[in-house]
Amino acid sequence: MPEAPEMQVVAEFLQSRLTGEIARTVEVLKPIVRSLPHEMVEDAVGRRFESVERRGKFLLLGMSGGRQVVINPKLTGGLQYCPAKQRVQKRTCVRFGLDGNMDLRYTDDRQMGQFYYVPAEDLGRVPGLMEQGPDVLDDFSFREFQERLRAFHGEIKGVLTRGRVVSGIGNAYADEILFEARVYPFKRRKALSSDELRRIYDCSRRVALDSIEALRERMGDRIDHKARDFLKIHSRKGQPCPRCGRPITELRANQRITSYCRACQPGMLLKN
Ligand SMILES: [Zn+2]
Repeated sequence: MPEAPEMQVVAEFLQSRLTGEIARTVEVLKPIVRSLPHEMVEDAVGRRFESVERRGKFLLLGMSGGRQVVINPKLTGGLQYCPAKQRVQKRTCVRFGLDGNMDLRYTDDRQMGQFYYVPAEDLGRVPGLMEQGPDVLDDFSFREFQERLRAFHGEIKGVLTRGRVVSGIGNAYADEILFEARVYPFKRRKALSSDELRRIYDCSRRVALDSIEALRERMGDRIDHKARDFLKIHSRKGQPCPRCGRPITELRANQRITSYCRACQPGMLLKN
């Protein structure tokens, strides 16, 4: 599942490769595209990709004439930039044919992602896009972070991944941030000390920046490549904690796993 660091590397790559390209052909192979109000297949052909921007986990591809392609790959989506002759995978939903016999493709195993084609003035109609908090890489103050948090009372991991306080953090990076901050993932927001809040705030940006660096090396132009080998705690059940050496704990709730170290991130243990 791409989160801000992965999407940032994808955005940087597309900024250098896609900007200036014209969509010579547009194909929708799976019914995932929400076109408001213009039908993308007819309307986007011949338009130039003019900008690439990331907002939280969303990618915005600006096309000439004020059109926007808005993509949030969620759990199973991804982008591919590849030669047009490369075999089209079954999970391919959308295909833009570009000059130089290259394709930009959107793939999604279970079609759980969001894919919108809208005029720029209608970006507000894309569910979840405008409701996001500041991006994890934006320059926002600790004070703002605290103020935004105030409205939420649940467990800190859930609050972080919801995207209203800070956007771009998903399940995996929330685990990494809370490990670095030495905070129990299921601790309720109200129970956090100001020291803990400060550490979460500091670690959010640092983890995101470090991860982007690691991802740039590993992904290169394979923007569909899922690199997670550098993560310290997420999905490392039973392996030694990189800080204290004790085995990493994993809990599963709502089909999402949470990995943490019981020694470094102590908290009340409700279930085993
Ligand atoms: Zn530990």
